[in-house]
Amino acid sequence: MKPAKFDYHAPATLDAAVGLLAQYKGEARLLAGGQSLLPMMNFRIVTPAALIDLNRVPALAYIRAENGMVRIGAMTRHRAVEFSPLIKERLPLLAEAIKLVAHLPIRSRGTVGGSLAHADPAAELPMVLQALEGEVAARGPKGERVVKAADLFAGMLTTSLADDEMIVEVRIPAMTSRAGFAVEEFARRRGDFAIAAIAAILEGSGERCTKARLASAGVGPASIRLAAAEALLERDGLGDAAIEAAASKAADAVSPQSDLQASAEYRRHLTRVLAGRALHRARAVLRG
Ligand SMILES: Cc1cc2nc3c(=O)[nH]c(=O)nc-3n(C[C@H](O)[C@H](O)[C@H](O)COP(=O)(O)OP(=O)(O)OC[C@H]3O[C@@H](n4cnc5c(N)ncnc54)[C@H](O)[C@@H]3O)c2cc1C
Repeated sequence: MKPAKFDYHAPATLDAAVGLLAQYKGEARLLAGGQSLLPMMNFRIVTPAALIDLNRVPALAYIRAENGMVRIGAMTRHRAVEFSPLIKERLPLLAEAIKLVAHLPIRSRGTVGGSLAHADPAAELPMVLQALEGEVAARGPKGERVVKAADLFAGMLTTSLADDEMIVEVRIPAMTSRAGFAVEEFARRRGDFAIAAIAAILEGSGERCTKARLASAGVGPASIRLAAAEALLERDGLGDAAIEAAASKAADAVSPQSDLQASAEYRRHLTRVLAGRALHRARAVLRG
């Protein structure tokens, strides 16, 4: 299959890219790594009038730490995140999750901004952004605004960004070095999209849990935080019984659908199993 005809623009600056996006009034698409957009264009699932290629805007690719936040430019490749010492030190949950994204050639092209904007319900990065309570900076003709993870993912392949807005930066609070964390995922083959995945972060000491964060992927139209499971752990602590109860709450909170890969019931079952595993492993990390 080949894509339908489209105009092609390769702006050299962010302002020019934002200007072009506004000019096409929702009929253009930004081209980042192209790992999701180009297959969709080849299958004619999307037929944009124009592509605005961000690959010649160098100012959009960086990883920095500032005031307790890690800032990642939208065009930063997955591979750069995977090998960043700063990410390994400040966001070890992201360092673990990024390795589960597809395969090396896809990670070499795919970008952080592209993955979040694409909002695949089975993708790892939206789940990580939810668990770490991150946010994105979005730029449009009216200027820049910040969208929190909780407000970004609106449904299957849908975000709350307007047609003329683009993600310019991803901001994630650095994790405390005392946190326990884990990502557990079930996929048919290594590198496939998750059939179900859970990211967990725990803080506390002994049986006490001062902070629990859990987020899902693959088990609903969008990645979500599993707030009831978090609250249970913060109230009841980190004993085995509390972890088992939290895993059940996680399974109750998701709304998976059946498809050719797995039934909704199986995905719910996986949610409980993976949440249990992630919490046990995060607790082990927390206890050193
Ligand atoms: C075989 C295969 C397996 C994969 N497996 C996984 C996996 O296991 N886990 C996973 O998470 N992903 C997986 N992916 C997807 C991959 O991670 C992509 O990199 C990602 O989905 C999109 O990133 P991209 O940079 O390629 O974006 P593109 O494909 O270029 O763009 C995707 C969408 O986002 C929009 N967009 C891009 N950048 C911005 C921006 N800055 N602001 C606003 N909108 C923007 C585009 O217009 C487009 O609509 C897989 C892809 C393939 C082909």
